Amino acid sequence: MQGFNKYYPPDYDGEKHGSLNAYRGKHALGDRARKIDQGILIVRFELPFNIWCGTCNNHIGMGVRYNAEKKKIGSYYSTPIYSFRCKCHLCDGWFEIETDPKNTRYVVTSGARQKDEEWDPEENGGYAVHDTDPNAGPVDPLAALEKTTAAKNYAEQVQAPRLEALQTLSDHYGTDPYSLSLKVRKRFREVKKVEKAKQAADEQFKSAYGLPETLALAEDNEELRVEAREAFRREREEAERESRKRRKVVSEVGLVPRTPARMSAPSGSKSSSAVSSLRARILQNTARSSASLAGPSRVKPPDLKNVIRR
Ligand SMILES: [Zn+2]
Repeated sequence: MQGFNKYYPPDYDGEKHGSLNAYRGKHALGDRARKIDQGILIVRFELPFNIWCGTCNNHIGMGVRYNAEKKKIGSYYSTPIYSFRCKCHLCDGWFEIETDPKNTRYVVTSGARQKDEEWDPEENGGYAVHDTDPNAGPVDPLAALEKTTAAKNYAEQVQAPRLEALQTLSDHYGTDPYSLSLKVRKRFREVKKVEKAKQAADEQFKSAYGLPETLALAEDNEELRVEAREAFRREREEAERESRKRRKVVSEVGLVPRTPARMSAPSGSKSSSAVSSLRARILQNTARSSASLAGPSRVKPPDLKNVIRR
């Protein structure tokens, strides 16, 4: 029995023995490690399926437990493959079962016969399970060669010229940054000068006509100028028409009060004189305003002051 308890005998020397197990000459796993020098550890193993013993031909049910000799016998990639060697409890025969990491199952390798109880979908009205790994399958050497040739051609005819073009472009922009910078800065200065002059002109215009600072002025061009001139002409014609109409109405109004004045003549000469003086004043004003409208001073280009007054 291994040293489970913590009793240290009087002749125990920690430096000499190291541990109690070493002092007693036992493995930490005790009797189960009695074949550890052969790489065998004795473990409790439970049958994962039904088998028939190869020696006594008895059926042994799934779940029967044995003290099996567990041993590493190889590996599938980095996963170890273990074998379990068990002694039949009905006879003296041995059988061996191994792990199969590739298919994640156990297989009987010797001394017994496994009862085949694997589920077969095809047998039970389902579809067969096939390996659907696209990478697998027979490799055609000629197809592989064709593939590599196509890749090579593509690299030579498409990728290389593209890389060269990119390299040329990069050289074009990257070889002489000083002169490029000079060019760009010169152009920037010219544009800035023009922009500044334009901005100053706009500011002056805005302050002259008391326009808001934030007002964005339209770009000055020939098309807009023609449009503005056209609009001005239309407006002037409209104004002239209006004034003609007004003159006509005033002259009619001037005629209308005459009749009631005459009719109301007996009421007093004072009111009749007031009406006639009013009529005279209206006529005078109308004549003055029409003269100023039709005068040569109104033909000159649009002036905002006039527009505002109107
Ligand atoms: Zn047996």
